[in-house]
Amino acid sequence: MNKSLSGIGMTSQRTRARLIERLREQGIKDETVLAAMFEVPRHLFVDEALASRAYDDVSLPINFNQTISQPYIVARMLEVLRGGGPLDRVLEIGTGCGYQAAVLAQVAREVFTLERIQPLYERARKQLRELKIRNVAVRYADGSLGLPDAGLFDGIILAAAAPSLSAVLREQLAVGGRMVVPVGAQEQWLYLVERDAAGFRETRLEPVKFVPLLIGKA
Ligand code: SAH
Repeated sequence: MNKSLSGIGMTSQRTRARLIERLREQGIKDETVLAAMFEVPRHLFVDEALASRAYDDVSLPINFNQTISQPYIVARMLEVLRGGGPLDRVLEIGTGCGYQAAVLAQVAREVFTLERIQPLYERARKQLRELKIRNVAVRYADGSLGLPDAGLFDGIILAAAAPSLSAVLREQLAVGGRMVVPVGAQEQWLYLVERDAAGFRETRLEPVKFVPLLIGKA
């Protein structure tokens, strides 16, 4: 657990405890994920005007037509990504405000996160720095093809919906690695892709609603 976060946001600790109880009721079982969600002050990642709603289980606007994901879906995706085990190197595509990256930082050794909208990238980087989260590398980049020069990842997580299950991305998984990805346009499903020595296995999990993965930097 990231020690530097303790003590921040004391006032919202009780609200966060309620959020964790709600996540349990919604079926999240991974204690490591629940502890990470308790640790990260979500209200610091949204506009002040929306801070009072930061612990409601809703997605909220973060400008540039993007949203911070609903706490349930962040918890669910991280639970699936972990698969009950520890995470070493993780790639996140779609930093947004950096909230999910901050939660990932609590459950993985090293996080790389990519954002294609420059002002969002800058704000997320600043916010993570202010929280003294040091194991997240934020890059201003088009992540639709992943981060092929950075070695293999134990986990890859997309915060935007891909048009299809990308073969380019799954090749960046290490053996034993897991990728969690929303796929589709109007109708979207969450997929888990697992890599083992024999190849890849895909599992369709549940319907979801994400902004689309777009090509190129903005
Ligand atoms: N995880 C984020 C939510 C992100 S919303 C959070 O906790 O706030 C999805 C983000 O994906 C948006 O910021 C969008 O700009 C970004 N995105 C979409 N396509 C992308 C691409 N090709 N490369 C990098 N980021 C992308």
